[in-house]
Amino acid sequence: MLRKVIVIGAIDAAGTSLFETRPDIEYEIVSDVSEENLCRVVHDAHGLLVRTATITPRVIASAPKLEVVSRHGVGYDNVDIESLTARSIPLALAVGGNAVSVAEQAMHLILTLTKQGFLYHQAVQNGQFDFRRRPSSSCLEGKSILVIGFGRTGSRVAARAAAFDMKLYAIDPYINPDIIRRAGGTVVTDLATALPHMDVVTIHCPKTPETRNLIERTALNAMKPSGILINTARGGIVNEMDLVAALSSNQIAGAGIDVFVSEPPDIDHPLLALPNVVLSPHCAGVTRESLVQMATIAAENILDAFDGTLQSEMVANAEILLGST
Ligand code: NAD
Repeated sequence: MLRKVIVIGAIDAAGTSLFETRPDIEYEIVSDVSEENLCRVVHDAHGLLVRTATITPRVIASAPKLEVVSRHGVGYDNVDIESLTARSIPLALAVGGNAVSVAEQAMHLILTLTKQGFLYHQAVQNGQFDFRRRPSSSCLEGKSILVIGFGRTGSRVAARAAAFDMKLYAIDPYINPDIIRRAGGTVVTDLATALPHMDVVTIHCPKTPETRNLIERTALNAMKPSGILINTARGGIVNEMDLVAALSSNQIAGAGIDVFVSEPPDIDHPLLALPNVVLSPHCAGVTRESLVQMATIAAENILDAFDGTLQSEMVANAEILLGST
């Protein structure tokens, strides 16, 4: 049986080349990701491979032959999972494809803030070599880091922080706490009690109704004035306006932010003008290596779904594979 895959957004050729090896697959790459166009092109699709486009209930309803949706990444707040689950269609994730990339970006943001990377660079460019006499950077050794969400990316950040001899704390209500202990961490069960003792707070949980605005004014006010906050997970887990207020009043020392409530953020968004932030354009999971890996895994997941070999650990709504819905 010939099956059609719609690749929504460009992916590395490592992914599409897998489709080319299969005579039973045809694929089409679509760059117009408007809902209107997607509703039009998915009518004969058996599989959708999605980067960042929004896959609405209308798009899913327009694809009567749909057997699988495969995310080129692990976050899936851009895909209406309820509509897929209602039709027992798996939402596959490129599990493991970008965890190292995100963890390294989190470390980059932590290090850039603690080592004052931009300030020192500008000082040398501006001929202010005597900057070295009044250092404003600090060491990570012995500092406390709180990892919020101890999954694929959070656990990798923890391993990297441990290599810097940081004291590891982690909060994750949905895993066996022994996983945190085995990684050398202290299990945190109450965020509010832990925050005043942390030098670095780094977010690695999904955006859910429970984690929306998880870090807002009260949490920011509880942090040390020397503390820094890192968000490479999703915009909206941190309340942006409360963060602007906390940074402007030096309630916290700095923030490293890869993800925004609205992307791209407005060019006059107050966060962009602050001196104590380091920003990146939602690219924590995007490196040369991770693009190849994610394209490969996302394409493999589509083929596995067609072949009936898709593993439940790759699926966000795995309950449908177990036949419980
Ligand atoms: P994961 O599923 O492996 O880990 C997430 C962890 O968060 C899980 O262990 C889960 O139990 C935990 N969690 C859920 N709710 C929580 C809560 N209320 N408090 C604390 N922990 C909670 O996911 P991952 O691969 O580590 O990715 C984490 C998130 O990072 C994704 O959901 C995605 O949105 C984001 N992400 C961003 C980028 C980027 O480029 N910026 C790339 C990849 C992933």
